Amino acid sequence: MEKRKLVIVGSGPASYTAAIYAARASLKPLVFEGFYVGPAGGQLMITTEVENYPGFPEGIMGPELIERFRKQAERFGTTFIGDDVARVDLKQYPFMVESASGPVFTESLIIATGARARRLTVPGTADHEFWQKGVTACAVCDGAMPLFRDKPLFVVGGGDTAVEEALFLTKFGSKVFIIHRRDKLRASKIMAERALKHPKIEVLWNQVLERVEGDTVVRSVSVKNVISGEVTKHSAAGLFFAIGHEPNTTFLERQLELDSTGYIKVLKGTCRTSVEGVFAAGDVQDPHYRQAVTAAGSGCMAALDAERWLAVREHATA
Ligand SMILES: Cc1cc2nc3c(=O)[nH]c(=O)nc-3n(C[C@H](O)[C@H](O)[C@H](O)COP(=O)(O)OP(=O)(O)OC[C@H]3O[C@@H](n4cnc5c(N)ncnc54)[C@H](O)[C@@H]3O)c2cc1C
Repeated sequence: MEKRKLVIVGSGPASYTAAIYAARASLKPLVFEGFYVGPAGGQLMITTEVENYPGFPEGIMGPELIERFRKQAERFGTTFIGDDVARVDLKQYPFMVESASGPVFTESLIIATGARARRLTVPGTADHEFWQKGVTACAVCDGAMPLFRDKPLFVVGGGDTAVEEALFLTKFGSKVFIIHRRDKLRASKIMAERALKHPKIEVLWNQVLERVEGDTVVRSVSVKNVISGEVTKHSAAGLFFAIGHEPNTTFLERQLELDSTGYIKVLKGTCRTSVEGVFAAGDVQDPHYRQAVTAAGSGCMAALDAERWLAVREHATA
């Protein structure tokens, strides 16, 4: 029976940072990096240049940044398994973590499985088409790129996130269009008013995204009116999906307390979850910021929380 002091589920800035801190504290962490459920290494593996991670004034490619995180964790003695965790049992102690490699038992657990940005399956938006060549799902991450400067930009969605993304993009684009399938925004009244009053924002009511076209980068976006069926092609440099995120929490089978949208609930100002000895870090517990640097910061917090929790427990049972 393999027993560990600390197991970390997930890979990405939160997981690898937690591993760096835990390994340096001699906890010999074991990281399940994932295989099918998402790209091992996390969301930054599917992006190009990261311009806002501190310490890299010239920017750094997402996969290279992740490789550096991982190497640093490895240097201090982290072990990695390239499997998805299929199931955990948090009712037994030590906790059980199960993957295709069999069960592992652990005294503490950090969940850092991230979240996936929802995307629509529309011609031109797939990974092998214009994804990351003008099509993206994060305005804060990508909006400032030269590609989008002073050009027409399109946001798909109608909730608070879509409005926030559109408002942010007005700093860069010549005009920002919100493609919304209904005749009223779902965003809160105050946010909707801000968007509707903004001189650079126009809402394309009752429209759905039909197709994205371009050459090496996005050049146009076609939308379809859901009432008349009419298709209109607009010149465009960017298409931003803002239709929500899905935290990767299904494998937990609700053994941890989640919020109404599936994010793990943590005690304010900590990474402690509803189960003692289980901690959560990164996007999986963060519906608000969802950035690499905040994920890394909470990875550090989770490792320190776990280390202290283990120390108190050891002292109490000695
Ligand atoms: C296109 C794009 C561009 C972005 N650009 C930037 C940027 O420029 N700057 C910035 O700060 N942020 C950017 N972000 C956001 C940033 O990538 C995330 O905030 C950050 O990666 C979250 O890190 P995380 O550690 O929570 O995990 P994630 O990066 O979400 O990764 C978690 C990983 O855990 C693994 N996993 C999931 N479930 C399991 C399981 N059951 N078992 C084992 N493993 C599992 C999967 O491999 C998953 O990919 C971007 C996001 C996207 C999608």
